[in-house]
Amino acid sequence: MTTLLVPEPAREVRDFLSQTHKLLIGGKRVDAANGETFEVQDPSNNLVIAHAPKGGKEDIDRAVKAARDAFVNKPWRKLTVSERGKMLWKLADLIEERVEEFAQLETLDNGKPLAISRAADIPLTVDHFRYYAGLATKIHGETLDISVPYAPGASFFDFTLREPIGVVGQIIPWNFPLLMAAWKLGVALAAGNCVVLKPAEQTPLSALRLADLFAEAGFPDGVVNIVTGFPEAGAALSAHEGVDKVAFTGSTEVGHEIVKASAGNLKRVSLELGGKSPSIVFPDADLNLAAAGVAGAIFFNHGQCCCAGSRLLVHQKIYDELVGRVSEQAEKIKLGPGMHPDTEMGPLVSIEQQNRVLSFINTGKNEGAKVLLGGDSPSGDMASGCYVNPTVFEKVQPKMEIVQEEIFGPVLVAAPFEDLEDVIAKSNNTNYGLAASVWTRDINKAHKAARGLKAGTVWVNCHNIFDANAPFGGYKQSGYGREMSLHALENYTQVKNVIVQLH
Ligand code: NDP
Repeated sequence: MTTLLVPEPAREVRDFLSQTHKLLIGGKRVDAANGETFEVQDPSNNLVIAHAPKGGKEDIDRAVKAARDAFVNKPWRKLTVSERGKMLWKLADLIEERVEEFAQLETLDNGKPLAISRAADIPLTVDHFRYYAGLATKIHGETLDISVPYAPGASFFDFTLREPIGVVGQIIPWNFPLLMAAWKLGVALAAGNCVVLKPAEQTPLSALRLADLFAEAGFPDGVVNIVTGFPEAGAALSAHEGVDKVAFTGSTEVGHEIVKASAGNLKRVSLELGGKSPSIVFPDADLNLAAAGVAGAIFFNHGQCCCAGSRLLVHQKIYDELVGRVSEQAEKIKLGPGMHPDTEMGPLVSIEQQNRVLSFINTGKNEGAKVLLGGDSPSGDMASGCYVNPTVFEKVQPKMEIVQEEIFGPVLVAAPFEDLEDVIAKSNNTNYGLAASVWTRDINKAHKAARGLKAGTVWVNCHNIFDANAPFGGYKQSGYGREMSLHALENYTQVKNVIVQLH
């Protein structure tokens, strides 16, 4: 891109950025207890665009108490499920009325192209809240026939109640800030829980704007509390004895910390962690479709997707052709600031993430992998932002760090395979198991691969397809529990069995 001149954000976005931002605790907008704030940067130029409150342990404690009070004493528990659903629907409407504002905030904060924020992040958020608005009235228990062999002749009626868990701590990442908040909040609220949400420090803005909308949507004070801050806030939330369940999306490393911290009061945990998902291309695939799909699988959201197709496994017969085509696609991607109308790939979220990705690239080079494309950051106008060029490594070895570790950037590692058995073994040869895609026209191969892959999601002839009604989550060290769909309710409800003896 020749110029980095970008349109000014909309007036309401500028107004919001210039505000003094506050936490949401017990329905009130408050400063962090220590009065501290932190800088929020635009990763396209690293300029400070806002200041967010730096909530810590004391704020988490206040927020957990407010959530408990709302769960036990406030009208929330007495509302009908239909009323809960209506609030979620209203929240979705309020976001939809502000698509452009939320999209611009997300782009300024995270760096992703505005076209993507507008077309994907915000509409998916709206749709997600609507899905759980509808589901609020469909949560139900069951009736069971029981025999009770040691009570011959007695008659029983057994039924289950599906009840909310209580106070839920939710810790979310920066790659899809508002959408990740929706994935966590929608199901928790539909099921009748109260929440303390901790956004990522890199991207607090859309959550702070969302905080303005809960009261208008009708949620009683304290049902949703939002505490922005640093890892201390997340650690305090996951260890807090007043929290009944913690849900986390982020790195596998922090996932381990969350599990340890949860032990104090044995709180329930659900984890959506890292991945090293393979895109698998068989020789009978539609190669145009596959090349575009494989490139999209890794370069969408700049590779900052937990399910990014970061490993490419191509049948040896078409290896050179397919890898060549994917590299051509990658070379054409227009890098630039997310707010620029021509941008197809923006900067990474932060300097730390840029350095982390560049460090993996250096490791790959040192390990002897061959750089086919990229492998560095752009110079010139873009040097002041957190950019990394789309990168393709080829003929990598299974033990290399760049093959085993989640890089979370626009870096693809490619290797050939011989047959179905070989590719299933290679695909499953990591600690992760979040997702995979299979590119083939052969339905038998597609089904056999889907069954053989140890992954929570398998896409066939597509990648990165999400829907609120489709469960998402990991095998192995990619986590446990499912996001979205009916399955997510299992993380946010507990089953009470009631046995009535009939006389
Ligand atoms: P983290 O896992 O550190 O951050 C995710 C969230 O956890 C943030 O809200 C963070 O807060 C919070 N957090 C950090 N430490 C703790 C803790 N000890 N206890 C509780 N909460 C905590 O990811 P990073 O941002 O550091 O990114 C590093 C790598 O993690 C990426 O390169 C990528 O590999 C992976 N990642 C995976 C994601 C996924 O979707 N699976 C999403 C994001 C990252 P704070 O922001 O204040 O640090």
